[in-house]
Amino acid sequence: MPIHATDPLTGDTITASLAGNALVISPRFGESYSFDCAGRLLALFRDGRSYQRALDHRLLERLSGRNGPRRRELSPDEAQDLLGRAFASLAGLRAALPRLPLSEEERRQLAGALDKVLAFGPERLAADGEVFRRLYKPVSILPPDQYLALVLQATQGCSWNRCTFCGLYRDRQFRALSADEFRAHCAAVRDFFGEGISLRRGIFLADANALVLSMERLRAIFAIAQEFFRLPEGPRPVFSFVSAFDGGRKTPAEWAELHELGLQRAYLGLETGDDALLRFLNKPGTVRDAIKAVHALRAGGVSVGVILMAGIGGDRFAEAHVNGSVAAVAAMALGPRDQVYVSTYVSAPGTEYDALAAAAGIRPLTALEIDAQRQELQARLRAVAPQTIVAPYHVDGFAL
Ligand code: SF4
Repeated sequence: MPIHATDPLTGDTITASLAGNALVISPRFGESYSFDCAGRLLALFRDGRSYQRALDHRLLERLSGRNGPRRRELSPDEAQDLLGRAFASLAGLRAALPRLPLSEEERRQLAGALDKVLAFGPERLAADGEVFRRLYKPVSILPPDQYLALVLQATQGCSWNRCTFCGLYRDRQFRALSADEFRAHCAAVRDFFGEGISLRRGIFLADANALVLSMERLRAIFAIAQEFFRLPEGPRPVFSFVSAFDGGRKTPAEWAELHELGLQRAYLGLETGDDALLRFLNKPGTVRDAIKAVHALRAGGVSVGVILMAGIGGDRFAEAHVNGSVAAVAAMALGPRDQVYVSTYVSAPGTEYDALAAAAGIRPLTALEIDAQRQELQARLRAVAPQTIVAPYHVDGFAL
């Protein structure tokens, strides 16, 4: 049951939710803080603004825009000021506890939660962010339903890394961790999250294409991951990206074996169902490969998340992009456990796509046109995949 009280001295309304996998404490109306069960600050709302604290300790203000939410990183001074005010407010609530009209049990629970989060104050949070940065290569992106996953970097980077619009992994060479390295990574991840692991139900096997590895290596990776993070009721669910090209190179029987080891869903960044546009983007594989991959995964009991991208290909490809994407998803015969996401093209620094498109005389779509294309894609995809979730995917400003 949530705790609810009015401070007899100040008239502030105090609420707290301390059961479950997160602690949420609101010292007064319009001010709220969320923590994992280790007491690590994750998000806050105050002064009419909403913020995320990323695990690397960046503080990001959530903003809304035409093509979905955006985030603004606070400067070090802004972050220090915000955290100072937040923890002063929580300390004030701790001091006010004796006078609040609470049952003894509620007072004991709230005192315990406040002591835990106050012990994880600004200095310790900064140190925690340092540990996170040593533990992980930057987690460049996750599918939208995986933002609370337990990320394990069994591989680093992308095995292809040559799509002309993608700058996610240009900072690193693709490599797979050895079994010993991965075991050490899992141990460090377990120690880093501590009690906070309860918030992170599934494993996301990162980075971009971990499922490209051989079955022999994947068997070892899944076994180690489950050795550390198995749930009492069975294997912890595992999720990962796979390229459309590589997904079809494993048989349904191999996908079924990985499903037995925990693999629940593989996400394919298809971007478009038009082969000419795939070639222009230098994506690996063809639409046929993607359909074959989806059929193999689903036949093995693994659900899929198919990701398309509105706006890519500009005016030149617009019609073929939409029609081809709808036809490709229709041919995948998706079901209720599958998902389709429509992201929006965002120019990434250091990538070639914009210059190549300009040289080819392709006019970029305006923000309004991209929005309209996204809406059209979503509506037509829902019609051909009526049992499947079709949702927007806002990649701008992603942070774990
Ligand atoms: S879009 Fe996917 S396959 Fe292409 S480079 Fe980026 S991560 Fe790799």
